[in-house]
Amino acid sequence: MQRPAVIRKSPAELPVTPNLTDYEATRAAFSWETARAELGGLPGGALNIAWEAVDRHVAAGRGSHVAFRFLARDRVPLELSYAELARQSNRFANVLRGLGIGRGERVFVLAGRIPELYVAVLGSLKLGAVVSPLFSAFGPEPIATRINLGAGRVLITTGSLYRRKVERWRAQLSSVEHVLLIADEQDEQRSGGAPAGTHDLHALMAVAAEEFEVERTAADDMALLHFTSGTTGAPKGAVHVHEAAVTHWATGRYALDLHAADVFWCTADPGWVTGTSYGIIAPLLHGVTSVVDSEEFDAERWYAILEAQQVSVWYTAPTAIRMLMKIGPDLRAAYRFPDLRFVASVGEPLNPEAVWWGAEVLGLPIHDNWWQTETGGIMIANLPAFDIKPGSMGRPLPGVEACIVHRDEQTGALTVIDTPDEEGELALRRGWPSMFRAYLHNEERYRKCFAGDLYLTGDLARRDADGYYWFVGRADDVIKSAGHLIGPFEVESVLMEHGAVAEAGVIGKPDPVVGEMVKAFVSLKRGYSWNEALRKELLGHARKKLGAAVAPKEIDCLPALPRTRSGKIMRRLLKARELGLPEGDTSTLEEGAK
Ligand code: AMP
Repeated sequence: MQRPAVIRKSPAELPVTPNLTDYEATRAAFSWETARAELGGLPGGALNIAWEAVDRHVAAGRGSHVAFRFLARDRVPLELSYAELARQSNRFANVLRGLGIGRGERVFVLAGRIPELYVAVLGSLKLGAVVSPLFSAFGPEPIATRINLGAGRVLITTGSLYRRKVERWRAQLSSVEHVLLIADEQDEQRSGGAPAGTHDLHALMAVAAEEFEVERTAADDMALLHFTSGTTGAPKGAVHVHEAAVTHWATGRYALDLHAADVFWCTADPGWVTGTSYGIIAPLLHGVTSVVDSEEFDAERWYAILEAQQVSVWYTAPTAIRMLMKIGPDLRAAYRFPDLRFVASVGEPLNPEAVWWGAEVLGLPIHDNWWQTETGGIMIANLPAFDIKPGSMGRPLPGVEACIVHRDEQTGALTVIDTPDEEGELALRRGWPSMFRAYLHNEERYRKCFAGDLYLTGDLARRDADGYYWFVGRADDVIKSAGHLIGPFEVESVLMEHGAVAEAGVIGKPDPVVGEMVKAFVSLKRGYSWNEALRKELLGHARKKLGAAVAPKEIDCLPALPRTRSGKIMRRLLKARELGLPEGDTSTLEEGAK
């Protein structure tokens, strides 16, 4: 079917008047100072994310409003009001303080989407500690790497995750002094209490005081640590500060169009930045009710949640949308969700077909938006009141100045491109509050992200004559699989640990559902030969160490991997060969490898 290139919007026809109806005027009038003033702040100019997100609503008399509705298979939904969330996070802050943890110290949380994770994140922030939620599908290796990089003093996790992914590696986690365990079903069936060297979190919470005076953190005190991946080297710890809440507040208003009566569902896991910024902070800042589902994707379950929970604003990801598309429209037709009024998506390119599918099958077009771990919050977005050009990420939000730049490879000189439709690197003018303030222990890498007052995103894009931005690709080799950013180096390192592997090169292979699939190439050490058993062994080795979300799905063997003369594996060439694409410039390729 021929579809027009623009989905026209008419604000008057929307069931709720959007928060942003005049793009130019709102941008012109917007200032981050005003946005910040809309949040209360603590006496003396202090700012604490958790106070703004939770206690502020209690102080304003909205304590009985439901903050979270936690869903889990075969369980009655668990509701936490803002007042209860305030009390529980106070208790958690007291637990940490009782263990001698104070401001600036690092707390890691490794858990599924369960209430304790949310309480722990907010309680840690109240104490002024720095919190880092880890993805529970990571294997022991990525977990240990991140905790060690962040010098975590406390780890909160569940009994089963602890036994599977931490216990045997505990000796490597030298900075971790306290492990607080959330007993799960397996523990309930055991007897004898928490394993040696751990505390039972529920027991500590039960005796902790319910009152806690929130620490008066400064706006630029470190609050959150999110790990992200680059092409080379270890993961990078992006440092975010309490002031990031101002971006979460403004973008929650404009890009997600949150209104106080909304029921909001962000499907992202807090182990990734979207699940923290928009699965915890932004909806709480707006005092809305958030639905949190602890289960993995299941089309029927998701439609049932939209219906039963009366979700009004839904923030999800292209992979999930493509999985719903694959299942077909019949299942959708069995559910009714008339309350749903706005759908947004982030994390990877959203194909125009998916936007149209939303309009035709879901009943609402999908609004793509763009941001990254480093930006801490949504920067470019399609908004409810404005036309959508399917395939475009939308336009910069109020307070965000974006541009397209060319970088001269030789001199490093930067030119801002004003001509529409020209490709270049996407850059943002620094100054928005949730901009990352450092890569932990890696000042040089941080500095390289900036040129004057421009932050260079590492994404290639173009802007059209109407100011809409279009994603073109990544300037580096990182892989986006099911919306998760995966560093090829981390995967290659684990493959290299196997006795048979001489070299490893990892690429993202295009996949119609998950965007990119992790594919590895290895060459073998002398004395080993490639066969099915070894392939399976390597797949199993990687899966055990890295976890299912990161491990390669395919492994092939080559006699040798293509390298540059300086010895770097040419992942781009591996990818071009895999996909049968032109090999491009191979002048730097090692002799004999062509
Ligand atoms: P992360 O830091 O894991 O959130 O990944 C950020 C990266 O995901 C961006 O730099 C982009 O490469 C990609 N990304 C995020 N949102 C979009 C989008 N709407 N369209 C295309 N790519 C996106």
